[in-house]
Amino acid sequence: MTFASLGLIEPLLRTLPVLGYILPTPVQRQAIPSLLTGRDLLVAAQTGSGKTAGFALPVLQRLTLEGPPVAANSVRALVLVPTRELAEQVHGTFRACGMELPLRTAVAYGGVSINPQMMMLRPGLDVLVATPGRLLDLHRQNAVRFDQLRILVLDEADRMLDLGFARELDELFALLPKQRQTLLCSATFSDSIRQIAAGLLRDPLSIEISAPNSAAPSVEQWLIPVDKKRKVELFLHLLERERWEQVLVFSRTRKGVERLAEELQQRGYRAGAIHGDLPQPARLRALEQFKAGELQVLVATDVASRGLDIQGLPLVVNLDLPVAPEYYVHRIGRTGRAGATGEAISLVCADEVEQLAAIEMLIRELLPRHEEPEFSPEHRVPETALGGAILKKPKKPKQKLIPGAGAKGRIHLGNLLDDPRPEVEAVRQMPNLGAPSKKK
Ligand code: ADP
Ligand code: MG
Repeated sequence: MTFASLGLIEPLLRTLPVLGYILPTPVQRQAIPSLLTGRDLLVAAQTGSGKTAGFALPVLQRLTLEGPPVAANSVRALVLVPTRELAEQVHGTFRACGMELPLRTAVAYGGVSINPQMMMLRPGLDVLVATPGRLLDLHRQNAVRFDQLRILVLDEADRMLDLGFARELDELFALLPKQRQTLLCSATFSDSIRQIAAGLLRDPLSIEISAPNSAAPSVEQWLIPVDKKRKVELFLHLLERERWEQVLVFSRTRKGVERLAEELQQRGYRAGAIHGDLPQPARLRALEQFKAGELQVLVATDVASRGLDIQGLPLVVNLDLPVAPEYYVHRIGRTGRAGATGEAISLVCADEVEQLAAIEMLIRELLPRHEEPEFSPEHRVPETALGGAILKKPKKPKQKLIPGAGAKGRIHLGNLLDDPRPEVEAVRQMPNLGAPSKKK
């Protein structure tokens, strides 16, 4: 099946080969024709399956063929995303796919000055890609109007909800016209998210590609059991021995990221960092340098784990396991994209066995263990079984509560990283989009 047979118009068909898109991916084959007819859509597809172009192409086509030109400060299609990096990236796809079309697109997110964003909204936009908080700020300042809005896309929708954007989203949805096309997509979909989606979408086409909550099958995953205090040493050892050309390393906390990045830089590696305390330009610069191959190692918190597309990235290493199992899927989904192969290695210590069991339950497979003889842990990582069972509990691990996690959200946070604040507070009550949630 070709892009032409999906009903795309000539200017888009001319552009696709320029982007290296020769044949549509499975999710694109299913999504594009029905989106072109204006249907609502719920997409659950593994990471790297081409969802972005899957919605960008039909959205651009509909905006080109339908409706009056955009009025001042108005927006005809709105794409909401959870993070700034993803906003840039999704906007990049809209710009690339729409290069032959006379449409105005722009991106808006927090952490940078709002004035230029207000200026670019003044003549009106066909497509605005935004994070929810900044969009509301813009609306409060009368910089954006939604009466012309016809299309709403929520990318990484589940993440937006569990990142605590529920209140912003409630507020936004109340501002949007009811007559519109709505699309929700993500790699992971919990049942409660599906329920919420049911409230937002009208008679949606539901597309599910491959098993939900799984990474691309082309990613080879395993873990190395290691004592917490030797993780950094093990990472450095592997980096040198395996001569890793390019690696994206995840750590749960900002401090953990800083520390590893500094250690690497001191040893002469070209390493960069991305976490929420860094100014936005620095975050984007690090990402761009990594994408351009100028950095060998990029160390990041989970702010970088969703949706980022790094062409040909061969390897993801988890210096520690994420607070919520879904993040594991997103972290390792940074590799093995668009059919390429990839590797994902997790350095796991005894305290992390509950996180490990939760991940294995989510992905419905056990991570193979490859021990490194020189790094055999003193504290064994208890065996796990499918279904989330831990076969032998570790001896009294230190416990800390994640603020707001509730009784069920108790997990062990090691002291590998002194700063126990997770970069992303994932373990939260599922927000309810139906009723506006109260400000805390
Ligand atoms: P997802 O949002 O599903 O995780 P992306 O939309 O970020 O995935 O796409 C993953 C990668 O696949 C990107 O590099 C994108 O440019 C590429 N891609 C998307 N569609 C195609 C296609 N039809 N042919 C080749 N590459 C594609
Ligand atoms: Mg995506």
